[in-house]
Amino acid sequence: MSAVQSAPTAQSEALFARARAVTPGGVNSPVRAFRSVGGTPRFIASAQGAYLTDADGTRYLDYIGSWGPMILGHNLPAVREAVADALQFGTSFGAPGEREVLLAEQVTRLTGVDRVRFVSSGTEATMSALRLARGATGRKFILKFRGNYHGHADGLLVEAGSGLMTNEGHLGAAAPSSAGVPEEYARLTLVSEYNDPQALDALMAERGHELAAVIFEPVVGNAGVLVPTPEFLAALHRVREHGTLLIADEVMTGFRLSLRGATGLLGLQPDLICWGKIIGGGLPVGAYGGRADVMDFVSPQGPVYQAGTLSGNPLAMAAGLATLTALENTPDLYARLDAYTAQLASGLKSAAQTAGVPVSVNRVGSMLTAFHQDVPDGSVRTYTDAARSDTAAFARWFQGMLARGVYWAPSQFESIFVSGAHGDAELNATLEAAQAAYRDLGGRDLGAHEQGGGA
Ligand SMILES: *Cc1c(COP(=O)(O)O)cnc(C)c1O
Repeated sequence: MSAVQSAPTAQSEALFARARAVTPGGVNSPVRAFRSVGGTPRFIASAQGAYLTDADGTRYLDYIGSWGPMILGHNLPAVREAVADALQFGTSFGAPGEREVLLAEQVTRLTGVDRVRFVSSGTEATMSALRLARGATGRKFILKFRGNYHGHADGLLVEAGSGLMTNEGHLGAAAPSSAGVPEEYARLTLVSEYNDPQALDALMAERGHELAAVIFEPVVGNAGVLVPTPEFLAALHRVREHGTLLIADEVMTGFRLSLRGATGLLGLQPDLICWGKIIGGGLPVGAYGGRADVMDFVSPQGPVYQAGTLSGNPLAMAAGLATLTALENTPDLYARLDAYTAQLASGLKSAAQTAGVPVSVNRVGSMLTAFHQDVPDGSVRTYTDAARSDTAAFARWFQGMLARGVYWAPSQFESIFVSGAHGDAELNATLEAAQAAYRDLGGRDLGAHEQGGGA
């Protein structure tokens, strides 16, 4: 079996024990707790480029990138300098400042929306966009897709993905997906299957006239990666024939899949777009934007109230500006990310096949999930498909990677994120670790699976 010597975790264990005494589950966001993969969550002391260093001094090759924001790698000098520069002038004004205008100009120029409003998280962005859609249409109901995650606002915790798939065993559960969400709220959220255009058309025909908005992840990251079919994208566009607003939740995909996000990549034309993660360059920023005639319903221009004490915070705006500017100044970045992640996908696939471990890979650009199941690549299309994965096998593989210094997303139902700081050395190290981790799994598992896999 494996001769891997796991790194020491005494400091992380001690911190986790202290954290559990003062914070629910010891973490401030559920997936960080490693519940679905077991073991001690690593407490991170520092991050640089493609690497994290934990409290015990062990360095890990990072595939989370703070769950997306670190598309150019951790601790980018340009971001650090921009924040340090802003810091000299004060940390928050509670009044408007130039950086908010600059970032809004940059976002509208890059994405084609007329107006944008900054908030402090992705959750706030989607929550506010839905209120806006309701205010603008005068309708109550919204529609989301099973396994899509749009943050933790009440009406969106209905058949939701991400940590809810990971921690709570809610696979296939009926709405709502969290305690504390009144059924009355959940009833205002209709749910349809992702990548099922017929179901969406049928629901729209019946209920379209009552629907303020359809919100969706243009490429899903929160059930693992799911890629939309052209037929499904066409059905999404038809939603607007019912006077329903189409809201693209690009909190994960915005500025990741292209400078115009998944929307630009896929040729989608939503009414509203939500952003988070990369737009703040690692500081807390979210945003929503769209056409002027819709956005001008937002207070103080219009009657839909939305506010934030720290919205447009100068340090956060500085980090966002530095990140988007660096993206614009790195013209080959998206091609490089795509090439790296394509090699990662094929390398993982062949390593798994060699070891006799069934794996099905979904990938778009620098987002990738290797589902532990015996179906062809690309055929995991829905939440129901994703939920068939062997999560126990994934957990063992995750631990095998971690023991070899590679920090993968600690859940089968999350995307990993490649950054511009990942190069040839990182790719080789990852594939070497993956070969060994799959080999361990194949050795232990052969016979548990029907047939040792397709290679
Ligand atoms: C991360 C995410 C959110 C929530 O953003 P937070 O900043 O965590 O509130 C919403 N939608 C999608 C698609 C996300 O990936």
